[in-house]
Amino acid sequence: MTTIKGPYYADVVVPCFNEEEALPETAPVILDFFRTLVADRSNRLTGFRLILVNDGSSDGTWSLIERLCAANPEVEGVMLSRNFGHQSAMLAGLTIADADVILTMDADLQDDIEAVRGMISAYEDGAHLALGVRNDRSSDGRGKSGSANAYYRLLSALGIRIIENHADFRLMSRTALAALLQYREVNLFLRGLIPTLGFPVTLVPYARKPRTAGETKYTLRKMLRLALDGITSFTVMPLRIIAATGAVIFLGTILASLFFLYVYFAHSSDIVPGWASTVLPMLFLGGVQLLSIGVLGEYVGKIYLETKRRPRFIIQETTSEALDANVRAE
Ligand code: UDP
Ligand code: MG
Repeated sequence: MTTIKGPYYADVVVPCFNEEEALPETAPVILDFFRTLVADRSNRLTGFRLILVNDGSSDGTWSLIERLCAANPEVEGVMLSRNFGHQSAMLAGLTIADADVILTMDADLQDDIEAVRGMISAYEDGAHLALGVRNDRSSDGRGKSGSANAYYRLLSALGIRIIENHADFRLMSRTALAALLQYREVNLFLRGLIPTLGFPVTLVPYARKPRTAGETKYTLRKMLRLALDGITSFTVMPLRIIAATGAVIFLGTILASLFFLYVYFAHSSDIVPGWASTVLPMLFLGGVQLLSIGVLGEYVGKIYLETKRRPRFIIQETTSEALDANVRAE
């Protein structure tokens, strides 16, 4: 492993969607934290920039970001033209960042910022990726942590490698980020892509805290969408399960037909005309078929969306010329 030698800079990317309640509390904490880290001579972090990405908020988040920019030289703002979702907002920030290390975290600071110390030292020891891992999710409530665990089990049953309890709180080296940005998929599931990158990885455990202020911006719908993307972006196993189910039913039907033919010729007098035995298999098969078509449709729809190559985010404006120069054609 190569350890880093010279001084280095960090870009901290924070997606913000309707965070006017949380940001006034969390931005100063983030700024103080990184200023202290820069002043601390035991690491070689020399400067940082806080890139706040406004993901089409409908509240006063953008004017708040502009005020933060005016008051703090380290803060920059990026405004997307509408709400593109957490993953795309983060991607917008990552695309525009160009420091030696790039960190991402949520605006509500639910993920313990102190863990960044571990990430920084992992980077100085040669890691290209330092991933925050929640080792205590009690603040998430039973529903959220229970469904997360069930989801991780489903993913691993489908053969998807994922780092459990790692959300989007991480440090990436410039090299790792460049690799990540080569993935061009429209339906992003960043935390699933990370393990496919390679590079030396360090896990940094921390306890997840309750939200600082405001409500969760992840509606049930957004969460289900993300969960489904996590599966369909990484495996075609559901399609194989459908095919296997079809094959089993097909074989079973052939065997049953042979058996019924035999019964018909050998003991024709024993046959009782059955209603249930006709209707139930029909309903069952109808159900299986509809479900299968739905799963197929999910994949076909995804192909359709991917082939259009639509931009994954649209930047309307930024607060600095330096950032404007980095707005690459998506
Ligand atoms: N977020 C975003 N766009 C969205 C939804 C959420 O940029 O459409 C941001 C939000 O501002 C926060 C982060 O994503 O910084 C995580 O959202 P939240 O804390 O609401 O999710 P939870 O922690 O409840 O899963
Ligand atoms: Mg949160």
